[in-house]
Amino acid sequence: MTKALRRPLIAGNWKMNLDLQAGRGLVRALRENLSDAAADVAVCPPFTLLAAVAEELKGTPIRVGAQDLFWEKSGAYTGEISAEQLSGVGCSVVLIGHSERRRYFGETNETVARKLESALRANLMPIVCVGETLEEREGQKTYRVLETQLRGALSGLAPTEAGKIVVAYEPVWAIGTGKTATPAQAQDAHLFIRKTLAAVFSPEASLAVRILYGGSVKPDNIDALMAQPDIDGALVGGESLKPVSFLRIIHFQSPAKTN
Ligand code: PEP
Repeated sequence: MTKALRRPLIAGNWKMNLDLQAGRGLVRALRENLSDAAADVAVCPPFTLLAAVAEELKGTPIRVGAQDLFWEKSGAYTGEISAEQLSGVGCSVVLIGHSERRRYFGETNETVARKLESALRANLMPIVCVGETLEEREGQKTYRVLETQLRGALSGLAPTEAGKIVVAYEPVWAIGTGKTATPAQAQDAHLFIRKTLAAVFSPEASLAVRILYGGSVKPDNIDALMAQPDIDGALVGGESLKPVSFLRIIHFQSPAKTN
């Protein structure tokens, strides 16, 4: 399967931003201005907005995602939310292992693996986030970190499940910093990720997995990123809160159009 057969995916991570009114306003603007996008689109609001956003987006192609989940179905786990509860309010996507959860909330490759399994159990599409810190990149450890994160998260999955997951490469040094990986740096990491997926699953299965780039994606860098052969979409933070910017990112210009 070549890149042309992997439908791009553009997902917005709202993080801990927006109240109910602003969230509704943002998705209404997206809903009304989304024209024949060449990509699948998802938004990941905070938990408190999921039901309202799902209601606003009912009947549209825009999917709703959560930013995290807990692996048990229900029970005495104060403050946690299960895959089944997410699916019950209209979520079909979930971010897992975002670097902010790894950095501030003790997420490990083991917890990522458990969360991934529970997302698949509830038919949610998991977006598994991996990426190196600046120190790791400067210490020439990028490949080692990516391989450890991927193997730790994915080793329990059968090759037949590979097509159900999405991987997001998010270099930590590029998230929310305004520094974007160059298209060549991102492509290099994406190709390494695909080779690791080939080793974990199979070469054929690796070609079906969408690998998103995340880290200061903006309207003025999305086209060059999307022109790379192993970049299948983007996970967008800050710019996904601005309807005009996010719509431009969704409607990226494919290489055929820019040439
Ligand atoms: C993110 O939160 O996943 C992200 C990539 O953020 P930003 O686009 O703001 O760097």
